[in-house]
Amino acid sequence: MIRVEGLTKIYNDFKAVDDVSFEIAAGEIVGLVGPNGAGKTTTLRSVAGILRPNTGRIEIDGHDLEKDPIAAKQGLAFVPDDPELFDYLSVEEHLRFVGRIYGVSDAPERIPRLLDELELVEHRNKLPDELSRGMRQKLAIACGLIHDPSALLFDEPLTGLDPGAIRRTKGTIRQRAEMGAGIVLSSHLLHLVEELCTRIVMIHRGRIIATGAIEDLVSQRPELEGRGLEEVFLALADEHS
Ligand code: ATP
Repeated sequence: MIRVEGLTKIYNDFKAVDDVSFEIAAGEIVGLVGPNGAGKTTTLRSVAGILRPNTGRIEIDGHDLEKDPIAAKQGLAFVPDDPELFDYLSVEEHLRFVGRIYGVSDAPERIPRLLDELELVEHRNKLPDELSRGMRQKLAIACGLIHDPSALLFDEPLTGLDPGAIRRTKGTIRQRAEMGAGIVLSSHLLHLVEELCTRIVMIHRGRIIATGAIEDLVSQRPELEGRGLEEVFLALADEHS
């Protein structure tokens, strides 16, 4: 479970995220959407504990990220869109290393399953330099899953993946939610958000401008009846420009 209360992040004197609050329950997949520069990555990086917010409170599984960061991060994974990998660790060594950091005692059993799930078996001995962009993305996803996190944050998870990998990764995301993880998925691929997410949080210029189930957002606007998330997104973004 993820709880964000009054999150504000200021860069120099620019408020990139302004009093953002939301909750993600176990089993939910929530789409974090918004135009370029809206503050999505800043929000995700703050929830992941990479950025320190100016104000606000973040809880992961009941653990306060500021006061109890180790317990909070134990149940959390953040998969960024530009994964930073270790130059001198192979694919398999990445998984062993991350497994060790999180104290995953059955990592030796989990690693072959993850390599298989993410189609990395034949690349397991390669270094990051020898991987394609899509393979690097798959490795970042595998690293995020090794400790069975209950809170998963994905920033454009399908970037660079081929159609087969996109389908499998969508399956992986759904399966993790069915296993009880609370998931935030930030993406500009609105058809993906529409397909996977039960609810969306839309931000614009650092503030939440809409939140709820996609059908509810559409039903609040009779003129958008029968249209998809893309039309709702464009109408809301236009209104707040
Ligand atoms: P995109 O869809 O383009 O990835 P985003 O919604 O993820 O955008 P952020 O990356 O969170 O947006 O950026 C929000 C705002 O904060 C932008 O105006 C950006 O220029 C600014 N910003 C982001 N990182 C920094 C930083 N390190 N220093 C100063 N300003 C920053």
